[in-house]
Amino acid sequence: MSLKRLTGRIAVVTASTEGIGFAIAQRLAEEGAKVIISSRKQKNVEKATQLLLGKGLDVTGLTCHVGKQEDRQRLFEEAKKKGGLDILVSNAAVNPVVTPVLDCPEESWDKIFDINVKSSFLLAKEALPLLKLSKAGRIIFISSIAGFQPSEFLGVYGVTKTTLLGLVKAASLQCARDNITVNSICPGLIETKFSDAITSNEEILKTALPSIPLQRVGKPGDISGAAAFLASDDGAYVTGENIVISGGMTSRL
Ligand code: NAP
Repeated sequence: MSLKRLTGRIAVVTASTEGIGFAIAQRLAEEGAKVIISSRKQKNVEKATQLLLGKGLDVTGLTCHVGKQEDRQRLFEEAKKKGGLDILVSNAAVNPVVTPVLDCPEESWDKIFDINVKSSFLLAKEALPLLKLSKAGRIIFISSIAGFQPSEFLGVYGVTKTTLLGLVKAASLQCARDNITVNSICPGLIETKFSDAITSNEEILKTALPSIPLQRVGKPGDISGAAAFLASDDGAYVTGENIVISGGMTSRL
């Protein structure tokens, strides 16, 4: 069952052809938004777009590597064609290395920061002129529980996600004057391709579960409802918040 809180709104969701981004795109569309979905690979975009169109949802699919300016620009051009932009969900992230933080090679540090932090910053910056024209502009970054509680071997990834918490705080101050809210959602361990090495390995999972009070791995659908809430008028008075959805995993900095 979905409410219809987003009828008439236009949303861009990055990295939305599978996993958490896909679930968010689907939920926003189910609530009535016109959603522009995207990711790097054309075949993934086609598959996800067809799936959502098949459910009768109003979606358009484009390829977009969030690290490429011209790709990001295409998303906003498409939004303009549809009538503007109300909701930006910046969801893309990478984690190409599994090392303790101080063992991370410099070029990997740069790559992880480029995608996880700089692209989120640039997407928000580039979306701002369109969001200012909306009556209810929304920016939602997808951070992580790792931004609060890093795991040793995903060192730099955790630092990028902590950085997003700060970006939320700073951007929410600037955007408030235009009635644009800025928040992040910080998922715990969610069953997707990204977390496959943990969630599909019984031995590793056995060591991870004790840190999750609800005793289960989350699903993308555990995250998408919070995005719809923040995007809707129900979330109009929420800004500058980093909302943890982690089954109770520790989330203190
Ligand atoms: P996922 O299921 O692996 O999906 C990743 C999506 O991102 C795919 O659609 C992929 O499609 C796209 N993508 C990857 N690199 C991209 C890029 N540079 N530009 C545009 N699209 C790109 O991942 P997920 O688990 O849903 O993760 C989504 C977000 O949630 C990330 O920010 C992640 O850090 C965060 N998160 C996940 C978990 C978890 O346990 N899963 C926990 C906390 C936070 P293409 O290959 O076609 O580009």
